[in-house]
Amino acid sequence: MSCTEEKKHSKVIILQPLGSFESKSTNEVLEKIKKINPNVIVRKAIDFPLNSYYKPNNRFRADSIIKSLKAQIGEDSVIVALSNKDISTTKGKIKDWGIMGLGYHPGRACIISNFRLSKKNKKEQFYKVVLHELGHTEGLPHCKIKTCLMRDAEGGNPIDDEIDFCKNCRSFLKSKNWK
Ligand SMILES: [Zn+2]
Ligand SMILES: [Zn+2]
Repeated sequence: MSCTEEKKHSKVIILQPLGSFESKSTNEVLEKIKKINPNVIVRKAIDFPLNSYYKPNNRFRADSIIKSLKAQIGEDSVIVALSNKDISTTKGKIKDWGIMGLGYHPGRACIISNFRLSKKNKKEQFYKVVLHELGHTEGLPHCKIKTCLMRDAEGGNPIDDEIDFCKNCRSFLKSKNWK
């Protein structure tokens, strides 16, 4: 790349349903994401990458899925995998730790699963985790503010306490052309 300035337009967000993820739920995410970034597309559902299945716990490895998906997109895109199966990653000494979502900061791929979310308000919680993981891919780390969407779940589910991005996280995302 010859230019040192980061490009000022927003990235293309690619929604990638995995396995039997409900298309109705994909469309709900699509409609909401459009308000943040109109450059969003939906891909046809694909199977989980074969090497991502972790048999001992009957889960899919989020880190393997991210690795596989980010190889399938262009530089200016971020791919958001949507799952209804349980997903996991390695956390410190715990080899296979169940999670609600995973995204690296910054990164070009993330994954969200509704498997561990509250039955009562799964839809709302799911979208909040989508925003959290997208925030990571843009470069945001975890945030100390309890009502901020970038709060660390720390093994629990504090999502209902999260209201929105806090002022700092919000202005960071605005600098990345989020609406
Ligand atoms: Zn996080
Ligand atoms: Zn914050």
